[in-house]
Amino acid sequence: MSESVRRPTFAEIDLDNLAFNLRSVKKFIGDDPMYMAVVKADAYGHGSGRVAKRLEKEGIDWFGVALPEEGVELRRSGIESRILCLGGFWKGQEADLIEKNLTPVIYDEQSAVLLNEAARGRNMRADIHVKIDTGMGRVGVPVEAVGDFAKSLASFSNLRVEGMMTHFASADDPEEDRFTEGQIDAFGEAQKVFAEHGIHPSILDLANSAGAVGHPRARSSMVRLGGVLYGLGDDVLPQNIELPELKPVMSLYSAIHFLKRVPEGSTLGYGRAFRTTRDSIIATIPIGYQDGYMRSLSNKASAIVRGRAVPVVGRVSMDWTLLDVTDVAGVAQGDEVTLIGGRGEVKVTAAGLAALAGTISYEVTCGINRRVSRRYVEA
Ligand SMILES: *Cc1c(COP(=O)(O)O)cnc(C)c1O
Repeated sequence: MSESVRRPTFAEIDLDNLAFNLRSVKKFIGDDPMYMAVVKADAYGHGSGRVAKRLEKEGIDWFGVALPEEGVELRRSGIESRILCLGGFWKGQEADLIEKNLTPVIYDEQSAVLLNEAARGRNMRADIHVKIDTGMGRVGVPVEAVGDFAKSLASFSNLRVEGMMTHFASADDPEEDRFTEGQIDAFGEAQKVFAEHGIHPSILDLANSAGAVGHPRARSSMVRLGGVLYGLGDDVLPQNIELPELKPVMSLYSAIHFLKRVPEGSTLGYGRAFRTTRDSIIATIPIGYQDGYMRSLSNKASAIVRGRAVPVVGRVSMDWTLLDVTDVAGVAQGDEVTLIGGRGEVKVTAAGLAALAGTISYEVTCGINRRVSRRYVEA
């Protein structure tokens, strides 16, 4: 069997749209802050190597990953820009951090001890960014503990506090604006406490996509953008304000593998969850929940065949999905199927699928499995 022939199910990643989104957001926010592209989770499923390469060419200042191992992978694909490991690191990863020039976020003393030791062993100073928990309630130095933490940092002579950051819980929700503003204020207080201890980080960053777009006070010296770069604004940005124009970066395609006519009253797929109400033409397409086309889309989502929206019928199974293509004139085996994409009236967005599945667009694109090949388009 030829290894290079694969089923015709693939995600298309439009790197020009990615670049468009960065420029569009920069125009909206301005050139003042530095821009970090968050490319964790394989760039939200878009492929971190190719995405980071293009963004580096577009002049991005920093990259953000969740895990040091994701940073190592970026270095392996030739990325030379600064990389911040947003989730910190795990014991034993200090050497990788230093050797690969990955900068960790720090929010506990044990990590500071480990990194300080590793840096001292190499006679150098390692840059760190300290994360303050101003209301996300996940990781971060609690605001009450900022003074003690700042004091303890003085004993780590091989660390340099280059940055200080926090993360918003609800920057996308106008009803939570007071909470978000409170987070910004708390961060300002923490910054003062650090200053009283003689710590003056040169990079201060608070804002994710929603914060950067919706809360001008949060822009500070750097913004950390994920979703907007991938064109996923519909369900993660505040919807009560003017927004930058964004273009989707990921489309998802497959092709009709099998077509059949079935009489009215036939049941289709697992659990017989769909029953035809007319003589129908049913297409079987090679994508399923293992690929990230979620089972919760069963009997709910639509796809596009020959420019026409067609419903998913029956349960999405592990490797196959069924479409009712009765109304598609001239439908034929091999016809392209658009699962995410399209234009104008007839389009399917990641946010639209997410709404049907009870989640957000990020989970849709992140969920498109490695089994689905990526095709990159770039002018
Ligand atoms: C994921 C993440 C971001 C990016 O969030 P978006 O909503 O995708 O812009 C920013 N900062 C931190 C700490 C993150 O974990």
